[in-house]
Amino acid sequence: MTTDLDLAAERRAIVEMAAEFAAREIAPRVAEYDAAEQIPRELLDRMGELGFFGGVVPTEMGGMGLDYRTFVELIEEVSKTCQILGTFVSMPSGLVGASIERFGTPEQIERWLRPLAQGRIFGGAAVTEPGSGSDVAGMTTTYRREGDEFVLNGSKAWISNLDVAEFFVTFATFDRSLRHRGVSAFIVPRDTPGLKLIPFKNKLGFRPICTGEVVFEDMRLPAESLLGEEGGGFKVAMTAVERGRLGVAARAVGVAQACLEDSIAYARERIAFGKEIANFQIVQSKITDMAVGVRTARLLVHECAAALQAGRRARQLTSMAKMYASDVAQRAATDAVQIHGAAGVSPEYRVGRMYRDAKVLQIVEGSNDLHRALIAEIELGLRGDGERRDG
Ligand SMILES: Cc1cc2nc3c(=O)[nH]c(=O)nc-3n(C[C@H](O)[C@H](O)[C@H](O)COP(=O)(O)OP(=O)(O)OC[C@H]3O[C@@H](n4cnc5c(N)ncnc54)[C@H](O)[C@@H]3O)c2cc1C
Repeated sequence: MTTDLDLAAERRAIVEMAAEFAAREIAPRVAEYDAAEQIPRELLDRMGELGFFGGVVPTEMGGMGLDYRTFVELIEEVSKTCQILGTFVSMPSGLVGASIERFGTPEQIERWLRPLAQGRIFGGAAVTEPGSGSDVAGMTTTYRREGDEFVLNGSKAWISNLDVAEFFVTFATFDRSLRHRGVSAFIVPRDTPGLKLIPFKNKLGFRPICTGEVVFEDMRLPAESLLGEEGGGFKVAMTAVERGRLGVAARAVGVAQACLEDSIAYARERIAFGKEIANFQIVQSKITDMAVGVRTARLLVHECAAALQAGRRARQLTSMAKMYASDVAQRAATDAVQIHGAAGVSPEYRVGRMYRDAKVLQIVEGSNDLHRALIAEIELGLRGDGERRDG
């Protein structure tokens, strides 16, 4: 029987291992690979071997079977050094893996989820389209059945992992007028004829992750590519949103914590007007906001982790955590760059990278404006689907 003490000791050991790995293997390289827009493949492979990508995926499916609290602490620790690698830690437990974990056939689990959770392959989730991001049910990618095959046409935009993904979990509709009821989910192997991948270059933030367009041109998929039931694709897409948003929130806490630590160090060392800038109250005020922001965002992340661990719904809570933590990260990064003065815009200091990434954290996994609306609608009882407040 695992006791709370065993769990706490195991959690500490995993987080310490991550901190040590981040300091030794990631920190010396992150600025260079951020500028080059390419994560070294051997770094990903090494993390895979060490079990970084197994997350909350059950051990019998190849995962680490972590509890949610350990999962978010691991993501936070990695994200303090590189939040893009935090994405890789969370992805097999998020939409890419969770959809197969919950809806996959035994064959799909063996072929895709097991190697994904073991870090032997990578995947991508292709949901967003050039004309519909927040409005997922408004997608225009269509499919038709021809005998035993599905034929997909359309395109997805801003899809991550174009360089390393061996497969994509994607969505298409057989009748646009049905909105979400017409959507089905598919697993698309990278080498499928009719699949085209077009990377976008020179993004503001999230530079090391290869993001771009995924085009389907009369792409034929065998029947076994269907994930879940036909017409049940929207349910597949929605199943993992809570884990996905929790992952973004934990990454944002990591970014904000790094900004706080760097700002403290710089404020204690930089001299202006004959004294450390830490003595100026306006600098102290920024440190206060960062410290309170990090702590409150982390509390919210841990509350979400506890809800998911207990098997409760956390739709509103994870929206709150994603929105709040990424807003905290963005403010912390802005203040951290300010405290660093000109040094803040130099590649020698990491707060500039945190500033670029924090802005993007407010957009991915649902723009913060969308979450703001969703939280209020649930609070006010205005959601047509009868969704209730969590907890
Ligand atoms: C680096 C990066 C990586 C990404 N990776 C992936 C990926 O791997 N897979 C994937 O599928 N997608 C990915 N995305 C896409 C991301 O999920 C979308 O950008 C996001 O969902 C927002 O969609 P949009 O950009 O189309 O914005 P839109 O939907 O066009 O919204 C634009 C703005 O309109 C406002 N708005 C829209 N709807 C509402 C509403 N209901 N209430 C209030 N305000 C609203 C908000 O201000 C919002 O920011 C990625 C994006 C980036 C930048």
